[in-house]
Amino acid sequence: MRDHKLFQIRDLGDDIYFIVDRSTVGMYLVIGMQKAALIDCGTGIGDLKECVETITDKPVQLLATHGHVDHIGGACNYDRIYINEKDTALMRESIVPEKRLEFGEFVRSINNDQSWTVKDLVENRELHVVNVEPGDVFELGGRTLTAVDMAGHTKGSMGYFDDRTGTLFAGDGCNNSTFLFGEEATEISQYKKTLLRVKEQLGENYKRHAICHDYSFVPMECIDNVIECCDTILNGNADADSFSNAYEAIGIRTEFLAWAKAGGADRVDKKFGNIAYDTKRIN
Ligand SMILES: [Zn+2]
Repeated sequence: MRDHKLFQIRDLGDDIYFIVDRSTVGMYLVIGMQKAALIDCGTGIGDLKECVETITDKPVQLLATHGHVDHIGGACNYDRIYINEKDTALMRESIVPEKRLEFGEFVRSINNDQSWTVKDLVENRELHVVNVEPGDVFELGGRTLTAVDMAGHTKGSMGYFDDRTGTLFAGDGCNNSTFLFGEEATEISQYKKTLLRVKEQLGENYKRHAICHDYSFVPMECIDNVIECCDTILNGNADADSFSNAYEAIGIRTEFLAWAKAGGADRVDKKFGNIAYDTKRIN
């Protein structure tokens, strides 16, 4: 599989493709016998639809995990987007070209990527927004994706569970640096309940955990390690450390990590799974 212009494409097997855009966020193309689903759509730099059409000629449904700019910015490539209604306002705020450019430039300032210009920003157009509720099933032909409530990172965060491979596409809902700050996030106590419910719901069918930043598939213990982070914070035992000042530059206030870090969001104990949280919004 060849990369396409501003997108890197990785074939993960089982008719799943990981596409990474210039803002370094990853999205997933999951292909069934009749249809395909695109889970998230990047920041909207470059023609994602054209890229996807180099991989599949099946009709594509666009499913959003949440309303952050780097996950829904490319929606203007498509006519319709499925997203939970709790994140619709966040999506509408984020999708404007100024926000997408701001985020793209923020990433460029970190990695000095000169491969794209403002001309590559996808133009905005009217979108048909469809609400997704937990339990909604998307039939792709020979495989289904089921929406899973992952409220925490944002109140309307959704994961999508692939019955063919046992993969939970978790968006930013549970990863090595789960952001749980800002008005759009839930309190830690509610987030912990979310993760326990996800585990209970999916049970033994849950075999793989896929995220969107820096990695695709990650160790399955990620979810247990993040639940452990929740407990550590809730018990008042978090060894909070100042979080990256890079985010202050774009107006996100400095927050704290749940665990001592060993560089980036990595933990000193080498376990995979962490939380950046707002010390004022725990319970
Ligand atoms: Zn996010």
